[in-house]
Amino acid sequence: MKLAIVGGGASGLAAAIEAGRTSPKAEIVILERLDRVGKKILATGNGRCNYSNSNLDINNYYGRDRMFADYALKEFTVENTVNFFNRLGVFPKEEKNGRLYPFSLQASAVLDALRSECERLGVNIITGFCVKEAVKKGKGFELTSDAGRKINADRLIIAGGGCASASLGSDGSAFKLLKGFGHSITELAPALVQLKTRPEEVKSLKGIKFTGSVSLIHKDRIICEDCGEVLFTDYGVSGPPIFQLSARAAFIKNAVLSLDFMSEYSPKEVYDILENRRESLSHLTMESFFTGLLNKRIGNLISRRIGIEKLSYGVGRLTNRQLWAIASQIKDYRLEITGNNGFKNAQVTAGGALTSEFDGKTMQSRIVSGLYACGEVLDIYGDCGGYNLQWAWSSGRLAGRSAVIKE
Ligand SMILES: Cc1cc2nc3c(=O)[nH]c(=O)nc-3n(C[C@H](O)[C@H](O)[C@H](O)COP(=O)(O)OP(=O)(O)OC[C@H]3O[C@@H](n4cnc5c(N)ncnc54)[C@H](O)[C@@H]3O)c2cc1C
Repeated sequence: MKLAIVGGGASGLAAAIEAGRTSPKAEIVILERLDRVGKKILATGNGRCNYSNSNLDINNYYGRDRMFADYALKEFTVENTVNFFNRLGVFPKEEKNGRLYPFSLQASAVLDALRSECERLGVNIITGFCVKEAVKKGKGFELTSDAGRKINADRLIIAGGGCASASLGSDGSAFKLLKGFGHSITELAPALVQLKTRPEEVKSLKGIKFTGSVSLIHKDRIICEDCGEVLFTDYGVSGPPIFQLSARAAFIKNAVLSLDFMSEYSPKEVYDILENRRESLSHLTMESFFTGLLNKRIGNLISRRIGIEKLSYGVGRLTNRQLWAIASQIKDYRLEITGNNGFKNAQVTAGGALTSEFDGKTMQSRIVSGLYACGEVLDIYGDCGGYNLQWAWSSGRLAGRSAVIKE
């Protein structure tokens, strides 16, 4: 039995290993378009590879039917993933919010472990093989590379990823292969990406960082919130909480961001702090009112938002009403989301192959027998924090195992 896997990324390597372990006699080949496998793995977690998360919950995942992911995530759990890598020599290190990394904090350790296990199992890795066409031939499949090279297989797993960060391999061609088999691809959007806002709102803040909380708001309802370091850029905002919220913002139109610059304090406490400052700093102007509390440039924008145009305005002249207006801007500074930084800068693709056309217990296509898919090519994506790689390991291993035990 010959199994071909299109894509040597996280899910493809996991699929090959599970297939090789389940059926040592199976002939397994990975076809990878780049000159090496796992290029994206090396870039994950800023080169440290946040490979899973011990606080995993199905609600960390999105897609038209997130429950599709449930079986794979329960079959190959986080604990299972930690043991899987530990046995390959990658000792775990847990950091903030359950994020799991290799103890050496080197993404290369994860890739090395996967590659050497593939080697031990005799998996044939062919690089520089970009699968341009995949068709059913008899009971099996015929794959053709862009250079015209052909490979036949009895079973086929599409593990070619989405279209985020194409320079790392996933250029969206896996969607075309699945479409060729009659599969539907949902609307696609970049996720885990920087968000764009009106440039005039943020340009003067470029380069400033603050640590606070950010909420995604739609029709006056908080969709989700996160806290951490936010960076203002000339196009909008970046940083871990923004990436996190961008996963939810992917398909929500007219959503806005609410920044809380002093998340440790309630609005009343912020008001009290401002009232004390009015008293002690009454001899100063608005130019200095925020010094030592907030970044001056943020303070200036807030002053302007509440209608104080001139920084020469005396602090002692601030009315209680103005203090409340400032407090409310500090706690709820709204920014309209006008877009995002695109697939080129995104970590994952929101959307993908319609999961109702696959069996979540095997990852097999309901349209073409012997065809499987796993990882980001499917319409499942997760929050920032190791959830996407965990999906790649779980779905990849389930697809690999199912593909070789199919009677
Ligand atoms: C910069 C960055 C940082 C990230 N950090 C994290 C993190 O720390 N934690 C986390 O959980 N997630 C992270 N992610 C997301 C995570 O890396 C992906 O969700 C995951 O790698 C998806 O795995 P995959 O196997 O489905 O697809 P990919 O990893 O994209 O692999 C697909 C492979 O298929 C190959 N391929 C595609 N089409 C073809 C074709 N036609 N023929 C042959 N080969 C093909 C590609 O070259 C590629 O090697 C990050 C992503 C990026 C871009």
